[in-house]
Amino acid sequence: MVDRELLLFMPASSIFFAMLSGEILSKLASISSSSNLFTSPEDKIAYSYDGTPLLQQLPGAVIRPRSAEEVSQIVRLANQEGFPLVARGSGSGLSGGSVPLEDSVIILMNHWNRILEIDEQNLTVWVEPGVITGQLHSAVEARGLFYPPDPGSAAICTIGGNVAENAGGLRGLKYGVTKDYVMGLEAVLANGERVRTGGKSVKDVAGYNLKDWLVGSEGTLGIFTKILLRLVPKPETATTMLVFFDRLSDSAEAVSAIIASRITPAALEFLDNTTIRCVEDYARLGLPTNLEALLMIEVDGRKAVVDEDADRILSLCRKHGASMINVAENEQDAQRLKSARKVAFAALARIRPTTILEDATVPRSLVAPMLEFIQQVARKRNLTFGNFGHAGDGNLHPTCLTDERDEKEIHAAEAAFEEIFEKAIELGGTITGEHGTGLTKKKFLERQVGSAAVELMREIKRVVDPNAILNPGKIFSPKPRCEGPLPGNRDQLQKFLDQGAFV
Ligand SMILES: Cc1cc2nc3c(=O)[nH]c(=O)nc-3n(C[C@H](O)[C@H](O)[C@H](O)COP(=O)(O)OP(=O)(O)OC[C@H]3O[C@@H](n4cnc5c(N)ncnc54)[C@H](O)[C@@H]3O)c2cc1C
Repeated sequence: MVDRELLLFMPASSIFFAMLSGEILSKLASISSSSNLFTSPEDKIAYSYDGTPLLQQLPGAVIRPRSAEEVSQIVRLANQEGFPLVARGSGSGLSGGSVPLEDSVIILMNHWNRILEIDEQNLTVWVEPGVITGQLHSAVEARGLFYPPDPGSAAICTIGGNVAENAGGLRGLKYGVTKDYVMGLEAVLANGERVRTGGKSVKDVAGYNLKDWLVGSEGTLGIFTKILLRLVPKPETATTMLVFFDRLSDSAEAVSAIIASRITPAALEFLDNTTIRCVEDYARLGLPTNLEALLMIEVDGRKAVVDEDADRILSLCRKHGASMINVAENEQDAQRLKSARKVAFAALARIRPTTILEDATVPRSLVAPMLEFIQQVARKRNLTFGNFGHAGDGNLHPTCLTDERDEKEIHAAEAAFEEIFEKAIELGGTITGEHGTGLTKKKFLERQVGSAAVELMREIKRVVDPNAILNPGKIFSPKPRCEGPLPGNRDQLQKFLDQGAFV
């Protein structure tokens, strides 16, 4: 959840970092050519935000490097001159990860969009970081292979952004998340050094596992320039179903019953009544709008197993009060049913000017109490919430439909999300299942993982990025040491720290 104090943090970065002088800009232009450096107000506005509401900050400049060597040179220059860098894929992030800091340089990676090698013998694919996830799906599926991670934003997000956020998505329940498919990485580290970690060997335990350390680092430890992903055989067939329930609690019980029956669907997604009504209004799929919940379920694999699993799932749903069932008859139909879930965010976003979507996550057996709690909080604070998400893995997306011009309502929304995160932590869950900590969740991180863990994260960051060049202020505040080398005005910084900033 966005805390407007965060916005105050961002301009404050100029205390740490050098202004982007004409001299720095011409050095940047000499690295990547002036045609790849963007400094006009229009260009800066285009890269001043991501998918997160209420966060916006103009960068100092935007650069489009042409090679890993250029990325390395830009990082070295940033260290010499003292300005921050923010890597950016498609900017679809929902925790403010690619939102710039004042005077930062945005490094665009979305034009590095080539699929370099599909290795059908080793079941791997080398990609550039800017490949769109949905395009990778199509390319490998055309060869009978499958890249399972399937974020709701697959049509727009990049693999680089997915690796940086360790993105999840609709197939996480059966297939896991991005980290389960990253086999190797090439990256530029914060000192400008280029590293390659991992490779095509299925087993590889040489040294520290730098690959997994970089996955999910939200652009704060390295910039990915090439990514090796694991593929699996494409499932022989799939069955997609929409199951409707009069009562929300019945749908949650059906989810628990499916999991307990040892069937693992590829997708087990949930929409509440507010979301169903918005989806129907938007997409006209013929959904009944008077029911409390909908489950979108997909099973995939060998035909005989899929048929059997689908039958068992449907009978469990009937037993738990399903009032209507829709089973796809062909691929086109399946896409139509799946779109009920895929358009949920867009459909909710039409209702009010500001849509705040979060991803509080709980152990999957606790989805029902968590949903009940979210509804209570919304009622108590007189807010409109739509709820949907990955019910099968406990990853919920409570979504507040609000208006940023209404201060009072925004405060109520902030307070509501604070309660929701507290509850998720109390239930043994997490403040973020897949969107990352970024700017919006960092104030809750310590409550979940504890101060020792946050301090260890800070220590790691200090060691690998002593000048706080890569995406500083994301995940946790820097709280820099004053004895180390710091860019910017040391006196101003000390004064700022004395006032208790960043603690
Ligand atoms: C409608 C919608 C649905 C969504 N559904 C899901 C979902 O189901 N599951 C899910 O997990 N997320 C979802 N998201 C969130 C978002 O799409 C993911 O976080 C995605 O991984 C971001 O990719 P991106 O290319 O847009 O990255 P950006 O938003 O540009 O960047 C995200 C982070 O990655 C870093 N980064 C980008 N490229 C690189 C690189 N080459 N090297 C190092 N760091 C880099 C950035 O600095 C930033 O910290 C959704 C978003 C929307 C708008």
